[in-house]
Amino acid sequence: MNIPPPIGLLAELTHRCPLQCPYCSNPIELDRKSGELDTRTWKRVLSEAAALGILQVHLSGGEPTARADLAEIIAHCRLENIYTNLITSGVLLSEKGLRALYDAGLDHVQLSFQDVEVAKADRIGGYKGGHEKKLALAAEVVAIGLLLTVNAVIHRQNIGSTEAFVELAVKLGAKRIEIAHTQYYGWALANRKALMPTHQQALDAVQLLESLRRRYDGIIVIDAVVPDYYARFPKACVGGWGRRVINVSPSGKVLPCHAAETIPGLFFDNVKDKSLEAIWLHSPAFNAYRGTDWMPEPCQSCERKEIDWGGCRCQAMALTGRAENTDPACSLSAFNSQMRAIAGESAMTADSEFRYRRFDG
Ligand code: SF4
Ligand code: SF4
Repeated sequence: MNIPPPIGLLAELTHRCPLQCPYCSNPIELDRKSGELDTRTWKRVLSEAAALGILQVHLSGGEPTARADLAEIIAHCRLENIYTNLITSGVLLSEKGLRALYDAGLDHVQLSFQDVEVAKADRIGGYKGGHEKKLALAAEVVAIGLLLTVNAVIHRQNIGSTEAFVELAVKLGAKRIEIAHTQYYGWALANRKALMPTHQQALDAVQLLESLRRRYDGIIVIDAVVPDYYARFPKACVGGWGRRVINVSPSGKVLPCHAAETIPGLFFDNVKDKSLEAIWLHSPAFNAYRGTDWMPEPCQSCERKEIDWGGCRCQAMALTGRAENTDPACSLSAFNSQMRAIAGESAMTADSEFRYRRFDG
């Protein structure tokens, strides 16, 4: 099989994070600080990424600014001509800290917001004072001349703020907003009953986004990740398994997607033992669901198989017990009615209490 190089690397620098978002897609079992890759190893991995043809690195976590060596890591990316995108909650970053990252060569900031009002946002993030800090940081990002994207993860307890999220992003001077309906992995799966919107709410939000795109055309780009549980066909999860992105966990495990560890039986190579290129090309975990040969029916004879690449393996695992099964988000899947039943049942529950992502690192 001809395997083209990945276009992006998701570098999960740490699982530590001062926020406690109940929709967090990090695994329930989080990597501790003592097990994190050191600076030298990250630099070597980033050089290997550049040699592999990777053009863009997403510095993520947890909260990447919890790492004291972040500026050094960014400077190394600049040295290797890799574009850097910092995905941050923003609450740990001072003006001076931001300036240091900018001076090191940072290209872009993706700043997450939990809601548009202080009390609601701080409740969802489980962090008092967080929203005000984010507003201040957004202003500094724009003032310094960095490109800003606002990230908003949508669920039942903030779906009514969709329009206000876009208005906030415009007001802050962001050039792009990513409205992502919650993906139910990790902590989000544990909180599904408190997060799942109703079918009608999801439909309304999708229509609203269409009208917002028209209203703000030329002012801000609105990207949206549609709510899987109510979709007709699945999304091409991570652009297709082993096709476009490579994910390195805080402890150095190399994953085809950040939730891949939920699939039992897959072995993940570690950057401490092998080069990124060797892992990308030969790791059994990457080759397990690469391409289309592994697909069962109805995917195997479906005309969309090279459009959505069979959807999401982790979702198939979570809802059907087998990663090989057709993604239950697909209306052609034998498990689709089961998924819709789960969605309907979760959405109608009165549960609004969160199980917060608490982690002492
Ligand atoms: S989703 Fe929330 S808790 Fe999870 S890493 Fe991002 S800011 Fe931290
Ligand atoms: S049957 Fe498979 S390939 Fe076809 S749309 Fe559904 S998930 Fe995609």
